[in-house]
Amino acid sequence: MRGNHRGMVGASIRQRMQMPAPSACPTLLSSLDLGFTTLRNRVLMGSMHTGLEDRRADFPKLAAYFAERAAGGVGLMVTGGFAPGMDGWLKPFAGKLTRRWEVARHREVTAAVHTHDAKICLQLLHAGRYAYHPLSVSASALKAPINPFRPRALSARAVERRIDAFARSARLAREAGYDGVEIMGSEGYLLNQFTVARTNHRDDRWGGSVDNRMRFAVETVRRVREACGPDFILIYRLSMLDLVDGGNDWRAIVAQARAVEAAGATIINTGIGWHEARVPTIATSVPRAAFAGVTARLKPEVSVPLVATNRINMPDVAEAILASGQADLVSMARPLLADPEWVAKAAAGRAHAINTCIACNQACLDHIFQNRRAGCLVNPRACRETELAYAPAATPRRIAVVGAGPAGLACATVAAGRGHAVTLFEAADGIGGQFNLARRIPGKEEFAETLRYFRHRIDETGVDLRLRTLATPELLAGFDAVVTATGVVPRRIALEGGDHPKVLAYDEVLRGEVVPGAKVAIIGAGGIGFDVAEFLVHEGPSPSLDPVRWMEEWGVDPTSSAPGGLKPAAPEPPAREVWLLQRSPGRPGARLGKTTGWIHRATLKAKGVHMLGGVEYRRVDDAGLHVTINGVEQLLEVDHVVVCAGQESRRELVDALAGVPAETHVIGGADVAAELDAKRAIDQGSRLAAAL
Ligand code: FAD
Ligand code: NAP
Ligand code: SF4
Repeated sequence: MRGNHRGMVGASIRQRMQMPAPSACPTLLSSLDLGFTTLRNRVLMGSMHTGLEDRRADFPKLAAYFAERAAGGVGLMVTGGFAPGMDGWLKPFAGKLTRRWEVARHREVTAAVHTHDAKICLQLLHAGRYAYHPLSVSASALKAPINPFRPRALSARAVERRIDAFARSARLAREAGYDGVEIMGSEGYLLNQFTVARTNHRDDRWGGSVDNRMRFAVETVRRVREACGPDFILIYRLSMLDLVDGGNDWRAIVAQARAVEAAGATIINTGIGWHEARVPTIATSVPRAAFAGVTARLKPEVSVPLVATNRINMPDVAEAILASGQADLVSMARPLLADPEWVAKAAAGRAHAINTCIACNQACLDHIFQNRRAGCLVNPRACRETELAYAPAATPRRIAVVGAGPAGLACATVAAGRGHAVTLFEAADGIGGQFNLARRIPGKEEFAETLRYFRHRIDETGVDLRLRTLATPELLAGFDAVVTATGVVPRRIALEGGDHPKVLAYDEVLRGEVVPGAKVAIIGAGGIGFDVAEFLVHEGPSPSLDPVRWMEEWGVDPTSSAPGGLKPAAPEPPAREVWLLQRSPGRPGARLGKTTGWIHRATLKAKGVHMLGGVEYRRVDDAGLHVTINGVEQLLEVDHVVVCAGQESRRELVDALAGVPAETHVIGGADVAAELDAKRAIDQGSRLAAAL
């Protein structure tokens, strides 16, 4: 069954898109013969919940979302998770496929994908004890640490009924035109809960030994295969590294892989880490392709194609995994959210044109956890394909954009892409604004990719970029419209001794203009305070660029020689002693991103950073920073105090432009500084440009 490399991939796509023959990624772009069907390339668009799966009315949007990625050249796509029954819902009234009348809406999705010669599988996901509702069930009645609902333990007969439910949903998926299904057996969902001793305390034929624990998963694969016939793709997502105590060891993982292959799986996909794991698995600080070696270890054990996953975001990374034989396919979910044309660009040898996923999670996973529709920080059109169009401008106009931070870059390039004549003024000697500081934080190296992308778009769309040019009203005379995107400046705070040489602004520290001493206090524990703390405690090359060192820091044993693949974490000693302070009471970092805040807190904890809330700042003098904490006066004997107390809008130009005859707009930080982030800046810039 293993696929061959016949190199016949995507010929029609290349012709349609007038691309040159692929040279950069021959393995990635080669076809994969599954025996009964052929995938046009090795790119699998991994399952990702978008929030469009749950309501009938959103299916046309879901179809457009998949169609755009199919048109962009993806070989095989997997939908977000659909439950095989109500108790498997992730949340009340989440997407499911259990009734014949639900089939029609899916046909819209499958037809849209097939129009572009791609294949699509429906993911069947039973949430088990991760279900956020009182109907939840599991192997044993053990509450998950990330969910308030305690599951009910399934009886042996109820297990049988759940297996039948998987088979029935798979049959309906086939009726709906799907090319196959993916059975979700990882990330700590129901099937995974049965496979490990951590959550399976049963002593019947569904618990106890390794064979008994994996029986539910293996029987599900067998009966789905039986129900759907031999010519139906069956992907099994196998947890190859649980990253939780009481998870499986390598022996049990191999046994499960062989058993699901024997039961009829066509492809085995890699799952890394449970949702309750305390090791990051997809955040931006995780090194690229960090877990490909785990998939590679399974290669000699099975003969079905294997899929490598997690933090694969650029063609060279994907090609290296495949060319070295670590896996047969690569899975990418967020990178295709960020750039629907990822495959087409890779095929054309235009990797530099890819809008790279920076793994920030800010608009995709964070939104889903907030019950909002997913989006993408770098691509505001993601999941809004039918709503946000960058259509050619009816009347090209002369537009000035001031400030080449994320807001101005998005606005200028989208407007120029629509045919406007755009001049972009930037006071600094390079583009990026605050993003130039963000990319210097260890673990945020990916942010440089966004600036590379914008540089390319400036060239491609013909934006007239004027660097080292402080825009003034005189310079802006004669334009039809002026967009002010002058961003923010760090807030200065009223503090006795605030002008002491010990006191530094975060931007001078991150630019390397001043190197702080061995002991540093940070005033302000927002996103930037946390980032500056990480900058100060790290020394030398970032662990995010070195998978081996990163795994040591987080206590990951990729060989799973111990259950769950965990070992004692061995963080390197901090480069400095750091105090991270905030005035508000409580734990610093509570307002950081839902899916990444815990990672920042854990990193700083491991580096011994003193994170303190309820702090009153009294003064700075030669002795250090004087504070009051819980009514007790203290002296922090620090060499430097770095102020990270938020930002203020830079609005001199807005005020100076008041009364000029041209149409004026204000976007990004220049508009509102409070709670500004790049997601808002890029979104606002793009939307304005779409309407100009
Ligand atoms: P800015 O980025 O401030 O850009 C404004 C630009 O305008 C500047 O380049 C400036 O030189 C130029 N300018 C000003 N006046 C003039 C003039 N008169 N003429 C010409 N040019 C002018 N956001 C996130 O979403 N996620 C993160 O993880 C994240 N991490 C961060 C980490 C750090 C360390 C920092 C500092 C910021 C981080 N941010 C993050 C915030 C993000 O960078 C900002 O929200 C974003 O840059 C704001 O974009 P903007 O275009 O509005 O303004
Ligand atoms: P922020 O999140 O608003 O935090 C500002 C901090 O300064 C707070 O801790 C605040 O807390 C403190 N502060 C405010 N005024 C102060 C004053 N007058 N004196 C002393 N302390 C004061 O802003 P930020 O850290 O500058 O970040 C800016 C934006 O960038 C954020 O909105 C964030 O979204 C974005 N960002 C995001 C990430 C990310 O990982 N997603 C990372 C970096 C930045 P107290 O009032 O309690 O002291
Ligand atoms: Fe990637 Fe961030 Fe976009 Fe999510 S929001 S797809 S992590 S760039």
